[in-house]
Amino acid sequence: MCFRPANLSKPVVCPNCGKKIPTMAGIRQKKCPFCKTELPEETITCPECGHENPVSNKVCANCGFNGKPGSGKVKK
Ligand SMILES: [Zn+2]
Ligand SMILES: [Zn+2]
Repeated sequence: MCFRPANLSKPVVCPNCGKKIPTMAGIRQKKCPFCKTELPEETITCPECGHENPVSNKVCANCGFNGKPGSGKVKK
């Protein structure tokens, strides 16, 4: 067993044909291999402000949170 971020182990289901799309070695498919539908990018919710960011974002687009505590700048 090795540690894996939870967002990589989620099964991806095609919104068009409903088939499960396997993730190969943690790499997510951009298109459905069955019907070639483009898949919406998976999002992760910022723990600081709750903004949903694409998983490719290194920092939160809303508050700038980069994974380190206190790095987010939420306007209050
Ligand atoms: Zn499909
Ligand atoms: Zn944020």
